[in-house]
Amino acid sequence: MKYIVLLGDGMADHPLDACDGKTAIEAAHTPNMDRIAAMGCCGLFYPIPEGMPPGSDVGNLSVFGYDPRVSFSGRAAIEAVNQGIHLADDEVAFRCNLVTLANGVMQDFTSGHITNEEAAAIIETCNETLANEFPITFHAGVSYRHTGVMKESDRCTVADLVATVCEPPHNITDQEYEQYLPAGPAEALLREMMIASERVLASHPVNEARRAAGKPAATALWPWGQGRALTLTSYQEMFGVTGAVISAVDLVKGIGCCAGLEPLNVPGATGWIDTNYEGKVAAALNALNRHDFVYLHVEAPDEASHQGDVALKIQAIEEFDTRIVAPFLLYLETRPETRLLVAPDHFTLISTKTHAGGAAPFAVCGHGIAPDNTACYGENEASRSGIRVQDGFRLMHHFIREHPLALQGAIE
Ligand SMILES: [Zn+2]
Repeated sequence: MKYIVLLGDGMADHPLDACDGKTAIEAAHTPNMDRIAAMGCCGLFYPIPEGMPPGSDVGNLSVFGYDPRVSFSGRAAIEAVNQGIHLADDEVAFRCNLVTLANGVMQDFTSGHITNEEAAAIIETCNETLANEFPITFHAGVSYRHTGVMKESDRCTVADLVATVCEPPHNITDQEYEQYLPAGPAEALLREMMIASERVLASHPVNEARRAAGKPAATALWPWGQGRALTLTSYQEMFGVTGAVISAVDLVKGIGCCAGLEPLNVPGATGWIDTNYEGKVAAALNALNRHDFVYLHVEAPDEASHQGDVALKIQAIEEFDTRIVAPFLLYLETRPETRLLVAPDHFTLISTKTHAGGAAPFAVCGHGIAPDNTACYGENEASRSGIRVQDGFRLMHHFIREHPLALQGAIE
């Protein structure tokens, strides 16, 4: 049996005035996703457990079939996997942004999208200086996004580090940051490190050059998103299948790696509406020759939603439908022992330009899945079907392992 998951990041939405009370999915022309719903069933699931942040990390963990309440401790640990960093039991990974702070205000959480080369030189300096004063080692990443691995010490335990509240810097642009500094059991250590980073970066040659060129300097390290090693039961062990993951986003590939799936790099996969759709499909079809499972993630609907652009969101969903979903319906026709699942990882609302939790629509069809009474894919139709998977992570278990008829009874 082949299992194919097609994930449209953030495509779920609330009814929009601009779409005459329809959601973006409902307003979009999506004959292929509609066909999945018509051939199989459409229902609701909760990818974000109550009380958890509605991020792509939590949402994708759920869709992959892992209970985020058990497995999730912070996105930095997932990103670390993708950077090839192995976290020991006494270590916690922090995302360390290079940020521009000025006059008590978070001016730029990207340091003016500092280049990889500039950032690498700064991170090297941090390892020569801060790493001697604090129990931390830095790993240079892309542009302003870096990882700091902090070891348990006589000052802070792993539990202290994980329990400390660290604000994502992109949430406080142009705001005074004092009240958003790390708060909790490890606050003293983390704040000291941030102050020390300001001292080290103040006269760094890269910053001198950036100031001379009129660009924002990287004035400090801002730690956040911390987590201990993400340990997931492998797909092989959990479902008895091997598989591959295709995404432009490190976070999704990182989860896939932890799940023992093969991450596939597709040239031109951008995480944007101009992504290499055909390349992603080709990589997935190729992977199905050697694997039973593929997870194909498309970021564009989420990005369009963050811009608050309804027309662009509809276009992103239509591209997803025709250029990603359609080829797999053809695959299903030639290979009946296949199941297809389409779903989002969370809502991204045009109205607020941010993520939200809630019951999101999915559709499944294929081998052994009897049709229900739904005719198209969308939020309203999914709620009409009566299928509601309360613990979102169970959807994948129904999809892969359970007797397919269990999907019909998956009203939990
Ligand atoms: Zn997402």
